[in-house]
Amino acid sequence: MRILIIEDESELVRHISRALTRHGHLVSSANEGNAGLRQALHELPDLVVLDLNLPGMDGLTLLGELRRAQCPARVIILTARGEVESRIRGLKAGADDYLAKPFSLDELVARIEAMGRRGTAAAPSELLKVGDLAMDVLHRRVTRAGALIPLSPREFDVLQVLMQEPGRIFSRTELCERVWQREHEYDTRTVEIFITRLRKKIDQGFALPLIHTTRGVGYTVRLPEAANS
Ligand code: CA
Repeated sequence: MRILIIEDESELVRHISRALTRHGHLVSSANEGNAGLRQALHELPDLVVLDLNLPGMDGLTLLGELRRAQCPARVIILTARGEVESRIRGLKAGADDYLAKPFSLDELVARIEAMGRRGTAAAPSELLKVGDLAMDVLHRRVTRAGALIPLSPREFDVLQVLMQEPGRIFSRTELCERVWQREHEYDTRTVEIFITRLRKKIDQGFALPLIHTTRGVGYTVRLPEAANS
């Protein structure tokens, strides 16, 4: 993978670069926000490791700019331990994953490798449909009523799990396990944020909602049933 590290702690950049290069990735870096954004839009990396606390443009603004420019790169944000609010804002702004500092390099590498695998593991020409919502798994494209809906990689992953078994209710824990594969590290708010993001993109403006919450149980994707919804 081509990976761009945007982080101003040069020592940390050096450590991350070395570890990722050793695992066969092509690594570049920027130590300031504005330069980082320019590089991301120019180099079009597969993945961005983004520190939120940056000189120049801060990480959250940068992330917003990336998503506005429809940059498809996966983004892992780095937050200071205990900064729950900035982590949540980051996920809302389109990040796919986060790591709280200090983290181990093994942990970062494991997260990155897991993301890479998910991106390429699609079954050939699989097409999932629920009502007028369609997902082309191979090309990672989602349309509703024929109109393309741009999703971040993690939004896509969550929706894919739900669409593979329409009508089945997935608990938050199960969604965490399926998508992030590390249930204990992800609290329920992370899943809620992704569901909220998906609702905005998939259901807003449509008469028939497809994403449903069963209070206290979990989430499902299905056509609404007049009788029991
Ligand atoms: Ca920093």
